[in-house]
Amino acid sequence: MDLSEQAENIKRISGVDTKKCLRCGKCTASCPNYEDMEYHPHQFVYFIENGYLDRLLKSDAAFRCMTCFACVERCPRDVKPAKLIEAVRLTLVRQKDSNRLKPYDIIENLNADLPQQAIVSAMRKYTK
Ligand code: SF4
Ligand code: SF4
Repeated sequence: MDLSEQAENIKRISGVDTKKCLRCGKCTASCPNYEDMEYHPHQFVYFIENGYLDRLLKSDAAFRCMTCFACVERCPRDVKPAKLIEAVRLTLVRQKDSNRLKPYDIIENLNADLPQQAIVSAMRKYTK
């Protein structure tokens, strides 16, 4: 699948219509993880709409998103950037041998303060 087909696939599985974006930046302005993400929610929308998906696929920005949905709440056009980010993440982990988190990684990071639910969520988010 080439990059434009991948971009179409990401739009299809996310259900996001990137053309609705006004580029107002409210999604990015409300993102609590702005500092930690190389690319921000408005850029996910813009890059996928304008043929720059390769930048997102080379970055770990999709894995830095906390799926808090603040960007979804703030968007005046109901674009739902977080769903697009989730679809990029899925695209990345579905590539061959691209599981982001392996069971042995969890063992190394286990500690008494880590809720069990966080482990289950991480496995769902970072593996296929
Ligand atoms: S869902 Fe992700 S991109 Fe959107 S505001 Fe939260 S951390 Fe930022
Ligand atoms: S808040 Fe919505 S309309 Fe504004 S830049 Fe973000 S996705 Fe586009």
